[in-house]
Amino acid sequence: MRILITEDDAALAEALQFSLSQAGYAVDWVANGAAADEALKENVFGLLILDLGLPKLDGFEVLRRLRRRNPSIPVLILSGREKPEEKVTGLDLGADDYLVKPFSLNELRARVRALLRRGQGGVSTVISYGRLSFDTIARTAAINGKTLQLSLHEVSVLEILLLRFGRVVSKEQLVEQLYSYDKEVSHNAIEVYVHRLRKKIAGAGVTVRTLYGRGYLIDYPGH
Ligand code: CA
Repeated sequence: MRILITEDDAALAEALQFSLSQAGYAVDWVANGAAADEALKENVFGLLILDLGLPKLDGFEVLRRLRRRNPSIPVLILSGREKPEEKVTGLDLGADDYLVKPFSLNELRARVRALLRRGQGGVSTVISYGRLSFDTIARTAAINGKTLQLSLHEVSVLEILLLRFGRVVSKEQLVEQLYSYDKEVSHNAIEVYVHRLRKKIAGAGVTVRTLYGRGYLIDYPGH
């Protein structure tokens, strides 16, 4: 699950990024509203954490623009402003939850988990193809209910491919999505993760195919 933090307080943003990365999420951070608007247009995020007082474009405007394009991505507003009418404005514009600074990182993580559960529509958080199932909240994969031992990188590659089942994902997209975990992710590293993943999901009824020069896709063999 990839999360975007929009926060101009660098110390706070780094603490959030660290805390959420430790919890197993891929976390990107931008420090102004215009950069958030661009990042949200170009990438798929599972959750947006949004400060209100931001340079270039304020949080309300970022939210307004986002909701025109995407009504469903969960949004958690962070704000130092304690004026109740701002909370109402944020919620009316389509935010899902609201935290007033200062808050504890434990509470933030709990809210993130709750929003991601809700973001699944209260239905199943598990996606299944063939004998392979993937829990998008716990970030675990299983074959016939038996949990696979996957590294954080392997989990991320599998998640990205499964969320675009049957569609090509380029190496650049994988590099970009894994970047948050490890600044040294190279094309060669991606090949290694895919290679290991392929071995681990053998027998799942789905395969990771390589389309030379284009990228990878996961689908049923023979398709
Ligand atoms: Ca701010």
